Amino acid sequence: LSDEAEAVLDEIEEKDVDFLRLQFTDILGTVKNVSVPADQAEKAFTEGIYFDGSSIDGFVRIQESDMRLVPDPSTFALLPWRNRDDIEGGNSARLICDVHDTSTDAPFVGDPRGVLQDALDRAEEMGYTVNAAPEPEFFLFEEDEDGRATTKTNDAGGYFDLAPKDLASDVRRDIIYGLEDMGFDIEASHHEVAQGQHEINFEYDDALSTADNVGTFRSVVRAIAAEHDLHATFMPKPIPRINGSGMHTHISLFEDGENAFHDSDDEFDLSETAHSFIAGILEHAPALAAVTNPTVNSYKRLVPGYEAPVYVAWSDRNRSALIRKPAARVPAASRIEARFPDPSCNPYLAFAALIHAGLDGVEKGLDCPDPVRENIYEFDEEKREEYGIETLPTNLGEAVDALEEDEVVLDALGPHVSEKFVEAKREEFKDYLVDVSQWEIDRYLETF
Ligand code: MG
Ligand code: MG
Repeated sequence: LSDEAEAVLDEIEEKDVDFLRLQFTDILGTVKNVSVPADQAEKAFTEGIYFDGSSIDGFVRIQESDMRLVPDPSTFALLPWRNRDDIEGGNSARLICDVHDTSTDAPFVGDPRGVLQDALDRAEEMGYTVNAAPEPEFFLFEEDEDGRATTKTNDAGGYFDLAPKDLASDVRRDIIYGLEDMGFDIEASHHEVAQGQHEINFEYDDALSTADNVGTFRSVVRAIAAEHDLHATFMPKPIPRINGSGMHTHISLFEDGENAFHDSDDEFDLSETAHSFIAGILEHAPALAAVTNPTVNSYKRLVPGYEAPVYVAWSDRNRSALIRKPAARVPAASRIEARFPDPSCNPYLAFAALIHAGLDGVEKGLDCPDPVRENIYEFDEEKREEYGIETLPTNLGEAVDALEEDEVVLDALGPHVSEKFVEAKREEFKDYLVDVSQWEIDRYLETF
């Protein structure tokens, strides 16, 4: 056993942990759990825990369904909302796992965490480590008498509003305590632009830990909101005609402990590497959207006028661009902010795709276009053409089309995940196309 694994065994003993939740993520980004008694921990570290992968979305065919979960000891954390004094018995803790094939013992190609690890390995071969920080936004909605989610917000607050208008600040405080109990460093939290909308920012980390954190973040936020009889949703656009929820993703590359994105001689304080990384993301943006904005609803957010990007451009100023260069206090903080991802994405796949696209730009030394400093929402088609600005896919179907034509992004996911992903998303879009929406009923039923 590694020292790290030994330390986990000690902590299980010390903290009176009865149950371990072994977690992994399916291709669509849903966190899955296998619960085992804590006395299985040693075996989990040495042999792994076997499970049937045939019932997990996008995993394996029935005839080859045995999988093995190998816990990563650095991810051990007590689950605070399962460890209350009013509940009988000991505590629960979680461990995030890599998924291995039982037949070959190699990492399973359908494991999203493994897909991100591959992207980080490629970065490492090029001499880089990758840091990432997301800004997941979410809405808090009231539940009805049956405990089902509604789209009724419980407050009328706006951007950075204070209590009493921001009635949810108590809930947000409890969520932050819960996150801190799980080891998060919270940087800030605020009421977002839309009513009922919130954002909590946590400290950046290496990209793998950050992707782990996104999954944890979503479950903590939902669990603690539920304790207040509220439903937290990461659906990108729950209410039409007001801001949706994004998951802006800040990325930087480090080389030999130095920020490889920083160059104080540059007008934007960005290195050649950063410029090419931006160019790579812009070049692959339409295909990336399928991964970073993977639901039908994602494209209801990516419309002009709501602080979400629509056009493929970058800016050092305004928020209508796909990529923004945030002001950095110190060189180490130089980074780019990809503004198009939303919190319905699978964070492992989204980060992997963004990183590969950026590295493709670096490897090919792609030229970065000039930043656009005006509000692109206000550009007409002619002006966009003049600036050479393309548009993001307008729906999930177009995004999947773009993905299928982009070898770099397909390779980022690998053959197994890309095939399952495209299949699932085509199905989802087809299902949407045959539906008749409330909008159509309202608009046409009595007119025709
Ligand atoms: Mg925000
Ligand atoms: Mg932001």
